[in-house]
Amino acid sequence: MKSTIKKIGVFTSGGDSPGMNAAIRSVVRTCAYMKIECVGIYRGYQGLIEGDFKPMDARSVNNIINKGGTILKSARCDEFRTPEGRATAHEKLKAEGIDGLVVIGGDGSFTGALIFNKEYNFPIMGIPGTIDNDIFGTTFTLGFDTALNTVVDAIDKIRDTASSHNRLFFVEVMGRDVGHIALNAGVGAGAEEILIPEEDRGLERLLESLKRSKKSGKSSSIVIVAEGDKSGKNVFELKEYVEEHLPIYDVRVSVLGHMQRGGSPSCYDRVLASRMGVKAVEALLEGKTSLMVGVRDNELILTPIEKAIKGHTKLDKELIRVSDIMTT
Ligand code: ADP
Repeated sequence: MKSTIKKIGVFTSGGDSPGMNAAIRSVVRTCAYMKIECVGIYRGYQGLIEGDFKPMDARSVNNIINKGGTILKSARCDEFRTPEGRATAHEKLKAEGIDGLVVIGGDGSFTGALIFNKEYNFPIMGIPGTIDNDIFGTTFTLGFDTALNTVVDAIDKIRDTASSHNRLFFVEVMGRDVGHIALNAGVGAGAEEILIPEEDRGLERLLESLKRSKKSGKSSSIVIVAEGDKSGKNVFELKEYVEEHLPIYDVRVSVLGHMQRGGSPSCYDRVLASRMGVKAVEALLEGKTSLMVGVRDNELILTPIEKAIKGHTKLDKELIRVSDIMTT
């Protein structure tokens, strides 16, 4: 069947993540390969409403595969949450002749795209771009692997100073609702304890573990704390709590913050972005819509966006066990 889609718009929306540029590049080049037009939409839904469009060809995306952030910029846009805002967006798309959209973003961006699809029967395809890895329907989101490498690198450096001064460090990493970054980077960097939003294992356990490690002769300790951990205390309150109960420890806090979102994407994220971009364009050309491209067992899969935004990602139980064994 010959596709009716002749012009695809691509944009990045919500929180940025490393690998978004590689995905834009892939969408643009796949369109060029398929001999259909491609338009870059700036600043997510805001640019869609304002008609901030730029035609893109294979050469428009030279030398961006290695760059963090997004050349199309990202934005949050309240106007798109209103029927009037979406009507304006639809007018702009019609005027430009765009008849399919690839949205690179997180679940908020996907929710907006799905509502738009339902209102205007407009073909949309999603690529999950977020460092949090919190989207159902894919084992990896774009940017997660890069963020892990960034966090592990930062913790390695913190460990150097921690062990020189016999200190205990609490390192806060991103993850309000999910502990994927904390758990994976914690295991990768050899953290003493990992506190995550999914589980409250109690502060007593933390104190016991720290006591044990002091007794066993450990010279320094790193505890990873996800932003949304369930202990009920933020990272600074945790420091006070431990200093009060275990005065033998000299505790320092490091909040890694936005540096976790930046940087050149890892090879894994670049390859994944390239694969997802091809799959997204191909799926649109096959007449599919309202799906998200994901990866499972290294195969690309398509999941209904409705499921992707409603489903929950689960932490790897086996990795929690590994982490427990490693901190013995
Ligand atoms: P992310 O995609 O990273 O989860 P946000 O949750 O901030 O980021 O969503 C990005 C944008 O998607 C919002 O600024 C808004 O324009 C759009 N969006 C999110 N939720 C909705 C919704 N329920 N209806 C319409 N648009 C939405």
